[in-house]
Amino acid sequence: MSEAKSAEDTVWVPLDSLRVGEDGINFIGRIISLRQSLDRKGRPYFYGFVGDGNTSIPYVAFREMPFKVGDVIEVRGARVEEWDEEVRVAIPTRAEVRRSERVDVAYPKVFEEEKMAKIGEIKSGDEELTLEAVVLDMERSQVTVRGRKRDLLKGVLGDETGKVHFTSWRLTGLELGGSYRIKGVYVKSYRGRMEVIIDEWSTIEPLESEKRIKLPKSYLRNIASIKKGGGGLDVEIEGFISYVSPRSGFSLSCPECERKLKDGICAIHGEVKGFYNLRVWVRVTDNTSTIEVLIPRVVAQKLLNLDSGELLKVLTESPGEVGREEFLKIIRKKLAALPVRVVGDVIYREKRPAMIVAKSIQPIKWAEIKGSLPTLDDFLGGAT
Ligand SMILES: [Zn+2]
Repeated sequence: MSEAKSAEDTVWVPLDSLRVGEDGINFIGRIISLRQSLDRKGRPYFYGFVGDGNTSIPYVAFREMPFKVGDVIEVRGARVEEWDEEVRVAIPTRAEVRRSERVDVAYPKVFEEEKMAKIGEIKSGDEELTLEAVVLDMERSQVTVRGRKRDLLKGVLGDETGKVHFTSWRLTGLELGGSYRIKGVYVKSYRGRMEVIIDEWSTIEPLESEKRIKLPKSYLRNIASIKKGGGGLDVEIEGFISYVSPRSGFSLSCPECERKLKDGICAIHGEVKGFYNLRVWVRVTDNTSTIEVLIPRVVAQKLLNLDSGELLKVLTESPGEVGREEFLKIIRKKLAALPVRVVGDVIYREKRPAMIVAKSIQPIKWAEIKGSLPTLDDFLGGAT
């Protein structure tokens, strides 16, 4: 029988005494996290953390791991390696991995302390979070992963502090409008869009009716907190326009996606008949910081109160750079130092500060700006 090796024969090495370079070792541990990824050749592998009563360490497994978070596993024939300056156990294809009935393997501390998170504070790279949130929007979608179509859910989650996009690989358990406690999610950003990922190993529990999430009327935040992270949908800021960028103006854009054309070519849609799209770039400053705000055409037209005749006049009477200069003059006059309330979505950019794409901008009175305004020194020191 292959089960011949009895437990007594096996030497189980505690996780805190593993040494880099050891091979063929046996250990018992509880799975703290379990994720799947693909190697360079497109083959799946698994990784995460395992823990025993004393410590937790990263592992990587080059074999199927038909287990779930919380399971205790017995691994025979693992290797200990150094990875990213840490000790990691590698579970090769030939290793033997079994679910263990042992209950004396304690969860390490890190797992006991559940990481409750608020959507207004999460940031890309956060892992193993627990959120309590309401599903504000949800639809079924499909992606192709390695030639295979997979169904998933896409939508928006909200709590008292913010709203964020989500993708769920679990197709059941969530309903539009429902409030849930969602455990074991992680956060990533794709093309500046922050997203909460609910995967096969996450758990979803409906909240009791008295714990249902109540959303605020708006997500008013200060600019410094927005730059730190947090679900960035429909955030609201109050400040004044401290800079109008000369990048503002009209440019030939793709009618499909509104991307700026290069020599009549859209990066996505190829050769298209462009239209003159208006975009205004400004910076908005409050008493905590300054952020770049992109004002798309529809919002800009309303804010600038430009009727199309006025726009057309600028464009046709003085095309090219002259038109741009004229236009800048007009908008600077209207926008410079204007106190505003901006509602929009935050774009988190790599290596550059976050920015906001405005959905609405409303002029307000100086007195309406919450909190104290920056002094001239703050402004000169921090705005540009
Ligand atoms: Zn396009």
